[in-house]
Amino acid sequence: MTGHVMTTNTNSNTFSLLTPDRLVKALALASLVLFVFIELYFFKISYHPIGYAASGLLVLFGIWRIATEKDRFQRIRIVTIVSLFVLFWFIVPVVFKVKVPILGGQWGSFPQLHTIGSLTFFVYFGIVLLFGKRVDCGWCCPCVTARETIGFPFRDKTVRNELWWRLRHLKWLTLGMLVVYLALMIYDAGTAYNRAGKYFYGFVTYAYYGSFLLIPFTGNRNFCRILCPFAALWGVLSVSGFYRIKANREDCISCGKCEEVCDMGIPIVAMVKEKGQIRSIECMGCGRCVNICPTNALSFHSAAGYVKEMIAKIT
Ligand code: SF4
Ligand code: SF4
Ligand code: SF4
Repeated sequence: MTGHVMTTNTNSNTFSLLTPDRLVKALALASLVLFVFIELYFFKISYHPIGYAASGLLVLFGIWRIATEKDRFQRIRIVTIVSLFVLFWFIVPVVFKVKVPILGGQWGSFPQLHTIGSLTFFVYFGIVLLFGKRVDCGWCCPCVTARETIGFPFRDKTVRNELWWRLRHLKWLTLGMLVVYLALMIYDAGTAYNRAGKYFYGFVTYAYYGSFLLIPFTGNRNFCRILCPFAALWGVLSVSGFYRIKANREDCISCGKCEEVCDMGIPIVAMVKEKGQIRSIECMGCGRCVNICPTNALSFHSAAGYVKEMIAKIT
């Protein structure tokens, strides 16, 4: 009898340990490790097909995200993210036999959104200027796909404190490394890679993939917040261009809900009070703060908004 009771208790303890949240986190953790291993071992070196297969993990978690996301705006965002990922990482490479066009691959025949110097990079540059960093970091980059799918279960671990807010400046170092490399390319293209390029790519690659393994401790946007050179580059364009989140100070009741959902750890409440807007290179335009604000104090503004305002003034 005692043994039976003990067995029942043990079973119920086991079930209480296996909550859906823990199960998802365990699967996500295993997927993060597998993803990093496959990407580093097979993909980085040789663009091996198994590297593409690792992307399937992101699509599977993406489908889970779409099925479970309750907020309409976020669901649209995730559908867009996953669709663009499938387009750029499955359809284009397989159908057009072009290697990962979003990163540039090695062939110049398809849009190379992240390769400085390509025509499409500069087109993209202009789009970010008009609509902000959200065009890439909130809706398109393969990194956001990975972080909003297999990284998503660990969003609740996002570190929001003064130290992490200060650490955001480190990304100027990686952007600086990239600029030095590009400058050397102009000066002496033959030696630039050995003198600077290999250090830039080596550091960024291992920091990038290493950051995935830290997601369970730091939240999913760790690399984007601290080290991504494009976060700095797109961020400069974002604040130089038309994109911002305007805030109606009178409507803000300082509830702090916007900060609780911001994966980039932006001190939104202080910005609302001091500046009446969120105009930070850190904002990747996910819209969570706008959607959760109970008083509708926040609203997106970009080039489209200015055009609408001008038309309204004229008519
Ligand atoms: S910050 Fe960098 S890694 Fe993150 S989504 Fe933007 S471009 Fe991608
Ligand atoms: S959620 Fe809205 S009301 Fe609350 S602190 Fe943020 S801006 Fe203010
Ligand atoms: S400030 Fe708002 S839109 Fe920008 S990253 Fe944070 S939650 Fe997303």
